[in-house]
Amino acid sequence: MINKDRLINFFEKIVKIDSPSKEEREIMAFLRAHLESLGFKCHEDHAAEKSGGNANNLYGVLKGNPDHKSICFNAHTDTVKSTKNIKIINNGDTIKSDGTTILGADDKAGVAIIIEAIQSIIENKTPHGDIYVLFTVQEEIGVSGAEMIETDAFSPDYCFSFDTTVPVITLVAGAPTHFIMKYKIHGKSAHAAYAKNSVNSIFVAANAISKLQTGILDEDSCCNFGKIIGGERFNIVPDYCEVWVECRSRNNDKANKLEQKITKTFEEECERAGATLEKEIRCGYRAFNIDKDDPQFILARNTALEMGIEPEIEYSLGGYDASIFNEKGLKTMVSSTGYDKMHTTDEVLYIDQFVQACEYAYKLIENV
Ligand SMILES: [Zn+2]
Repeated sequence: MINKDRLINFFEKIVKIDSPSKEEREIMAFLRAHLESLGFKCHEDHAAEKSGGNANNLYGVLKGNPDHKSICFNAHTDTVKSTKNIKIINNGDTIKSDGTTILGADDKAGVAIIIEAIQSIIENKTPHGDIYVLFTVQEEIGVSGAEMIETDAFSPDYCFSFDTTVPVITLVAGAPTHFIMKYKIHGKSAHAAYAKNSVNSIFVAANAISKLQTGILDEDSCCNFGKIIGGERFNIVPDYCEVWVECRSRNNDKANKLEQKITKTFEEECERAGATLEKEIRCGYRAFNIDKDDPQFILARNTALEMGIEPEIEYSLGGYDASIFNEKGLKTMVSSTGYDKMHTTDEVLYIDQFVQACEYAYKLIENV
């Protein structure tokens, strides 16, 4: 159905093109030329200009039979770190780096799966509808590339993002709302021994934190106090303390309430102590949930079942390009690629699972 050797060769070729976030120009040029050689019409958006990166998001469309529905595949082309001078070790079962760099299978495995599935569809003359490809930049720095996509004149019936870990086939059908907050507490400094009218900003932060919870909060939600900055010396009352917090919930209302509760607690403790509070609050992405009776869910599950695999359905607490796509009205599920231990130098791609993920992509095109 697909060409396994070509899939692996293509993957090994693209991991050698170094593309940390904001430096995806070379790989995007390579992919654009490749898509065009397959008959795709490509265009780009304005992500580079907007973000100071050197590459735009890349869109391709291959026209198909109008009697079929259309499908879009997405993967991100940036890697969390550089893969410069990568040495690939392929033992026939797994592909890894030599341990000095990451492998970059997150998400070049996704890119290779998409290209090979489409190339095989074309070669085998398998009937298909319009096929869209959306390769994004800057996923690893907070799904920034996805935020800059321009979706006008781009409305596929189904969209899948190939960007999650083993086992194949895992389908992410839901993900959380995510807030990141910085609370900057301005107190009043003094010599520790003459501290009568001072306001200790670290103490204000501690009081606020002690009234809140961290970790897993309920079946949908979590919160993390991730970083604290403040203070200078033993004998100086610190006039400044900064607290970095994030919270997530698969339930959008719960996420909103959680952010409000945390913010209110910091406000109250600052007021009580006579400190002033500066807030930086950002919602990174909103929750999505694709229902079991949604046609997209049914297509995704039935296609896996056809391959004899009961897919693992995940309602994740992580963030994806798909979180932004769903927020923008492009309904998207996330599918696994065969990579594991991503973001580390132990990153691994399991060849059998990688091939299976590619066969799954092929069948999705065939089934729409
Ligand atoms: Zn990824």
